Amino acid sequence: MKSSFDTVLFVFRRDLRLADNRGLAEATRRARRVIPVFVFDRNILGDLTDRSDRRVTFIHESVTEMKDALRTHGSDLVVLHGDPMEKLPALAEKTGAEAVLVNEDYEPYAMLRDDIVSEALVRTGRAFHAFKDHVVYARDEILTQSGDAYKVFSPYKRAWLQRLEEEERLGLSPVAEESMNPGTLAPRRSLKGLSDAWSLKDLGFARAELWLEAGETAGRRRLEQFLPSMQWYADDRDLPARKGTSGLSAHLRFGTVSIRDCVRHARESDEKGAQTWLSELIWREFYQMLLDRYPHVVSHSFKQEYDAISWPGGDEEFHAWCEGRTGYPIVDAAMRHFNATGWMHNRLRMIAAMFLTKDLLVDWRRGERYFAAGLLDYDLASNNGGWQWSASTGADGAPYFRIFNPILQSKKFDPDGTFIRENLPELSGYKGDLLHWPHTADAAAQEAAGCVLGKDYPHPIVDHFEQKDKAIALFKQL
Ligand SMILES: Cc1cc2nc3c(=O)[nH]c(=O)nc-3n(C[C@H](O)[C@H](O)[C@H](O)COP(=O)(O)OP(=O)(O)OC[C@H]3O[C@@H](n4cnc5c(N)ncnc54)[C@H](O)[C@@H]3O)c2cc1C
Repeated sequence: MKSSFDTVLFVFRRDLRLADNRGLAEATRRARRVIPVFVFDRNILGDLTDRSDRRVTFIHESVTEMKDALRTHGSDLVVLHGDPMEKLPALAEKTGAEAVLVNEDYEPYAMLRDDIVSEALVRTGRAFHAFKDHVVYARDEILTQSGDAYKVFSPYKRAWLQRLEEEERLGLSPVAEESMNPGTLAPRRSLKGLSDAWSLKDLGFARAELWLEAGETAGRRRLEQFLPSMQWYADDRDLPARKGTSGLSAHLRFGTVSIRDCVRHARESDEKGAQTWLSELIWREFYQMLLDRYPHVVSHSFKQEYDAISWPGGDEEFHAWCEGRTGYPIVDAAMRHFNATGWMHNRLRMIAAMFLTKDLLVDWRRGERYFAAGLLDYDLASNNGGWQWSASTGADGAPYFRIFNPILQSKKFDPDGTFIRENLPELSGYKGDLLHWPHTADAAAQEAAGCVLGKDYPHPIVDHFEQKDKAIALFKQL
């Protein structure tokens, strides 16, 4: 890559922030004039069926904040709406940009899109460069001694940490903050008239209510608010009723916080909580790496022999799960909370996903798609990884014979039933163990609780112990 340019476009994608943004910092160091750009990608928006999709609101608000912040630097954000494969080469032509600079994105569509943009630019004598920003280590940076990708998390994590420590010893600072030089941002007046109309209405969407504030300022604030409680993370992270996790996943997904910033903070402490949190950030990178190295996981089992499983669960089971009416309180509470907010706690994602695949025997791909449509923090790599973990088809998945008992999970992780009560108010008259499994209540107890089973709350759709044996048999037959 050339070390200096006259004019470049810097295009934001899953890095919606000005601070500690590697590609933006590089662009402002290497070019005399940087034009900041964001494209509302019609190919992605067109696939969304919900016209009040929460992700679109989150992105729209984050982009609006970036535009305002760029204006305080005397510059602006050029916002386009359309197909980036046409829009970006055309904007480069119009502005005389020599190159388009971005941060890397490892999803299959994004890589194809970037190849097409790059080819179009090269045809007109321009360049396309991508920088690593979304993860600390990508692609083939963490390999086994024999040069293969890791398929098991623990050794991957050890190698990841070793590499980080080694690089720090060598003074390479892999998680150092990346600062931009605002002096090279193109002046606002020079960008006049370059943007398309981009109100939510222009994009064909309506504003959605978000449980989480969007944008870079809110991302930084959420990280700062989480830091004092990081020390308790190892103990609190599995309890959905307690706010023991960071809630940063959507900010990490859209880049409104920097992964390097998160890693820097996690490494400031030797406490168990910080180490456990760092492990979760490394799980995120493990799944990004797997998606990049094994793109077949998008529609196939990582362990391809499990594609031969014919999952017997059908529409009835699937719809009962989606709507939170399986008769298993912890699963139903999780699904109803998810449907209402677009959020699900990690422990509940594991319980709900394992229940769909191992109790209802429904193909994991149906559940994965359902989560993909609704999660505010939806990320192809982590969602696919989480589903394949739960279905036991993944690289380092749960062993197929170790199946969560949803009632025991409920008692252990929602011990006083706070989460169930909040999300299934019809069950709130039940006390103690009955809240986790009301189906043993006799008619008098049901009357006393104000919730008659089969009328006010469904009978269990399946018997866990029977289904568990069937699930194990599905795997054993192969
Ligand atoms: C079936 C299933 C589907 C999932 N789908 C997604 C998804 O679409 N997007 C997503 O970001 N995460 C997904 N996860 C992982 C995890 O549930 C969320 O990252 C986590 O609940 C987010 O909450 P938090 O930000 O408070 O996380 P914290 O516990 O504070 O963790 C910090 C960060 O580490 C990362 N992280 C944590 N746990 C995991 C994990 N198991 N795998 C990968 N990264 C992790 C996230 O970026 C998270 O924000 C899924 C897990 C399962 C079991």
